[in-house]
Amino acid sequence: MERYFEVLKSNGADIAISIDPKTILTAAWTIYKCQFGCNTFGHSHCCPPNVPTYQQTQAIIDCYDKAILFRCHEMSIVTPLAVKLAREMFLDGYYKVIAFGSGPCTMCAKCNPTTCNFPNKTAPSMEACGIDVFATVRSNGLEISTLREKGEIQNHFGLLLVD
Ligand code: SF4
Repeated sequence: MERYFEVLKSNGADIAISIDPKTILTAAWTIYKCQFGCNTFGHSHCCPPNVPTYQQTQAIIDCYDKAILFRCHEMSIVTPLAVKLAREMFLDGYYKVIAFGSGPCTMCAKCNPTTCNFPNKTAPSMEACGIDVFATVRSNGLEISTLREKGEIQNHFGLLLVD
């Protein structure tokens, strides 16, 4: 795993750790935050209701014994980095690896309403798929907090399920 942590760190992550998938927490309330709090709900192939529900995500998580959690201070680099590493790990033989990013997909100026333009270059965020990111990060001993002021250091997290 060290080699993969180095890939993450040389591409903008400041923390990368192995975690037990049992520490990844999903929750029913997450969909409410997307539906009544985000203007990409229903307008992106990487957002609900076009992504796995929290129950489906939990069933997916239950298929894995290992995961990698990483942190970046910029949201925009998290998803591309998770996808890049998943591709590299897949080619190394981790055939089940899947990636989760952070925030809405921003690859296209406007999401294509019929089909995703870059399905192999993007991934849904953890939160879009019903993962309670705050609880998951804290259950792994890392800090995360809501922000009040512009300019505060931001912490954004990506996740890979790996077997
Ligand atoms: S890559 Fe483009 S079409 Fe696909 S989800 Fe992202 S914004 Fe939408």
